[in-house]
Amino acid sequence: MTTIPLTDLEIAQKIELKPITEIAQKLGLDSEEIEMYGKYKAKLPLNRIDKEKGKNANLILVSAISPTPAGEGKTTVSIGLSEALNRLGKKTTVVLREPSLGPVFGLKGGATGGGFSQVLPMEDINLHFTGDFSAIEKAHNLLAALTDNNIQSKINNLGLDPRTISLKRVMDVNDRSLRNIVIGLGGTGAGIPRESGFDITAASEIMAIMCLAENLDDLKGRLGNIFIGYTFGKKPIFARDLNAEGAMATLLKDALKPNLVQTIEGNPAIIHLGPFANIAQGTNSVIATRMGMSLSDYTVTEAGFGFDLGAEKFLDIKCQSAGLSPKVVVMTTTIRALKYHGGADLKTLTIPNVDALIKGLPNLEKHLENAKLYNITPVIAINKFYSDSDEEIQVIFDLARKLNVKIALSDGWAKGGEGALDLAAKVIEAIEENKSDFKPLYRWEQDVVTKIETIAKKIYGAERVEFSPKARKNLKTIMDLGLEELPVCIAKTQKSLSDNPLLLGKPTGFTLNVREIEIAAGAGFLIPITGDIMRMPGLPAHPASENITVDLEGNISGLV
Ligand code: ADP
Ligand code: MG
Repeated sequence: MTTIPLTDLEIAQKIELKPITEIAQKLGLDSEEIEMYGKYKAKLPLNRIDKEKGKNANLILVSAISPTPAGEGKTTVSIGLSEALNRLGKKTTVVLREPSLGPVFGLKGGATGGGFSQVLPMEDINLHFTGDFSAIEKAHNLLAALTDNNIQSKINNLGLDPRTISLKRVMDVNDRSLRNIVIGLGGTGAGIPRESGFDITAASEIMAIMCLAENLDDLKGRLGNIFIGYTFGKKPIFARDLNAEGAMATLLKDALKPNLVQTIEGNPAIIHLGPFANIAQGTNSVIATRMGMSLSDYTVTEAGFGFDLGAEKFLDIKCQSAGLSPKVVVMTTTIRALKYHGGADLKTLTIPNVDALIKGLPNLEKHLENAKLYNITPVIAINKFYSDSDEEIQVIFDLARKLNVKIALSDGWAKGGEGALDLAAKVIEAIEENKSDFKPLYRWEQDVVTKIETIAKKIYGAERVEFSPKARKNLKTIMDLGLEELPVCIAKTQKSLSDNPLLLGKPTGFTLNVREIEIAAGAGFLIPITGDIMRMPGLPAHPASENITVDLEGNISGLV
């Protein structure tokens, strides 16, 4: 059994990049229209978004089965599919999220695809890129500073009760020691002491806001709606009460423009922002998706984690908010992950094991059923690994035939676009059959409990939903603030369809426990929290950063 002898970075460094002006030309943009960030990155002009054209463009959502430590490869499949569609003469853009520095230096590594399906320059995209995350961090921390300044101030003091402030500070480094801290120590001139902490930048509400904002004006409105806490007299205080939104939007004006880069095969890729897929919507910005749909005929995009988290939020929050309707869902599946769902040990996943694979199939079946709940045609993409046996591949093809679902092997990792031609053909076929007619799962106007129960029962397969006393109290606050018509963005483990990470496959008969419900009034959704959700990851004992270095000429090595 062989594998590619090169790392992702080594493959990326062998590719001769085209000037970004050439990539822009493929999208019908001349060099004066784009803002260059060096030779190979550019910001795209917001005035090229054409909402009408966007409505009819072919939007393809790449999702996956429930993720396992074996890895699924949504980004890799998205890029490979996009290369293949371009090879088949369809003008296609892949639209992805920006990687966070946390995983780059921590455990998971970069997020620019893998093997021969990558977006470039991968070093830049994985490290700082065009500064969008930094801008979000600054805007967020400005609001936090304005909040503490107001508590200290004698003149404009709003009377904020420091114990009610949920807004923390953010930075884009995994650092568990900053999760919970006390700020304002040092005497009367150094602020009012209070408990606070840091989240990672991707968890900032501003990240979620930026990804739903329609334009700068809408952005300002949403920033102003960020809920900060209560006064001692129980009056809610929002960012607008601190007159924060103007300065914050000013810091964010360039970050709101999507970034253009290229794939290994020289096709356009738009990469823009990256919220979490549990406490937020887990997908790139509305602006970036619309830009892709305005400038090309096919747009391939990805939503984080499995279908139950990323795709549900993509469809019920992002698509409803922006009026988008995907025509196909590509369900990324790996044989290794299905064997893991079927009970096989992580160490044995490269050994053929048809029994475990068959036991794991219900996880895939449930996600396919879920796609159909939205009336969108699913296409199964088996992301091919070297260890997959023909017999195992046949098992999934047999299931697809039984369920009457289109299926293709996707070998973009090893072969680039050539390896995904079959998948691209199936996707085109599904689009041309025109059977999808996207229907959201619930209506935003429904009451909060109904919305949560609908997702829990229909998508996760829960028997019932239980609300803790705290969650019930939160429901009352949501009513008092008049926010019950916001969509819900359930924070749940990605490891299981249920809220218990240990339940693999297709769990049934379980109760979903809602611990509390947070308000993201700026982003425009409510966040029912189930289980423990990590907003500031820690570093592992041997962080990926130990292998990363740069030589005298500036060449980077060790980035994965
Ligand atoms: P996701 O977007 O689902 O998180 P990625 O596409 O980022 O997944 O892939 C996760 C990791 O798995 C990457 O390091 C990628 O290089 C690797 N990978 C993806 N597909 C394959 C494959 N078919 N064979 C080997 N490695 C792969
Ligand atoms: Mg990804």
